[in-house]
Amino acid sequence: MARRLEDNLHHDNSPSVRTTMSDDRTIVDAFSRLTGHAPDGLWRAPGRVNLIGEHTDYNDGFVLPFAIPQAATVAAAPRADGRWRVRSLDLAETGEVGPDQLVPLTHGWQSYVFGVLWALRHDGFLPGGVDLVLSSDVPIGAGLSSSAAIECAVLAACADLFGLDIAPLRRAQLARLAENEYVGAPTGLMDQAASTLCVAGHALLLDCRSCESRQVSLDLDRAGLHVLVIDTKTKHSHVSGEYAARRASCDKACEILGVAALRDVTDLGVLSALPPLEARRVRHVVTENARVLQTVDALDRHDFDTVGALMTASHASMRDDYEITEPSVDLAVETALRHGAVGARMTGGGFGGCVLALVPDDRMAGLDRAVTEAFQAAGYATPETFDAVPSAGAHRVESLRLW
Ligand code: ADP
Ligand code: MG
Repeated sequence: MARRLEDNLHHDNSPSVRTTMSDDRTIVDAFSRLTGHAPDGLWRAPGRVNLIGEHTDYNDGFVLPFAIPQAATVAAAPRADGRWRVRSLDLAETGEVGPDQLVPLTHGWQSYVFGVLWALRHDGFLPGGVDLVLSSDVPIGAGLSSSAAIECAVLAACADLFGLDIAPLRRAQLARLAENEYVGAPTGLMDQAASTLCVAGHALLLDCRSCESRQVSLDLDRAGLHVLVIDTKTKHSHVSGEYAARRASCDKACEILGVAALRDVTDLGVLSALPPLEARRVRHVVTENARVLQTVDALDRHDFDTVGALMTASHASMRDDYEITEPSVDLAVETALRHGAVGARMTGGGFGGCVLALVPDDRMAGLDRAVTEAFQAAGYATPETFDAVPSAGAHRVESLRLW
């Protein structure tokens, strides 16, 4: 299982691998076996989906993620010798480093853990040694941010264990620093902000320029709706090249238009000054930013029909202007819309991954079945689905009866 999990990560069309999270008791027991004593506590931080606002983050724009029930859980306790050790129950692997061995880009999956310790030291916090045992049920590489879940759970654990006074936004920024500098993945702030700041029952409006955020009520129960996540289990290996190409197009457009970031463009009249390719890319970013803000307005009014229409428009924009969808995600969106979804869109960077469908209670089972059948008929792998209940951000698990 451990081997398969890592092997599957980098192949064309490989299914995303759902880690099966050990329950809290198992994590505590594994910690005791590793260290010979009980942990001081358990900390949990979730994965996320982005309701709307795709490829807007690096254009200084807006995103609207919410935390999902799937999360990384860590058991942790300080250790006296100043060394850091982590075990992933999902990978059945353990790594250990001393303070002079925190070297960026050298630790594989353990970078997501050691990177957090490195980032804390970067900010002048000097956490002492710590033992960590982790397990996560956030599927890896499905665009649900299994990486931020681990970083933010580890950060929450260290902050509590060592009494570090770090504001929530700074926690998210430090977790991002770990991912950017220590892991070496050039991501924006969204994943770590969602995993740290989200509140159950809410989405998080994040302004990627100012880093200001606002909780937006996402009362799906009251509306009789669900956000169904359809993991298409497709992900192509050319994603990072395509991502770089989209960023380059945005940079080129900014240069031509004389703006610092596409966030500063609100008038589509400027498109005529751009070559056709850049014009399409810019149209996506400008309209997507507007759709995020319109979605927030609609949520404030509990107007879910409008939210659904904006999601579907977002998908069309990603498909036609940003050109980041692919046939299986288009099929999932079309099938969901034909079977009662109020709106549907791909979520995440693109070229596979997950689709979100806003679905009335009484249409859930039928829609789920219809998507599975459509995928079967098209010869695609069976998609996995789950109900994305807007969940809490990073927190200490209050279950003291465990030990
Ligand atoms: P995602 O979209 O899921 O965040 P990333 O490529 O950003 O995808 O992060 C996935 C990486 O995070 C994995 O390759 C692995 O190194 C690390 N990771 C995620 N979950 C676990 C886990 N349960 N145990 C160990 N490492 C994990
Ligand atoms: Mg990630």
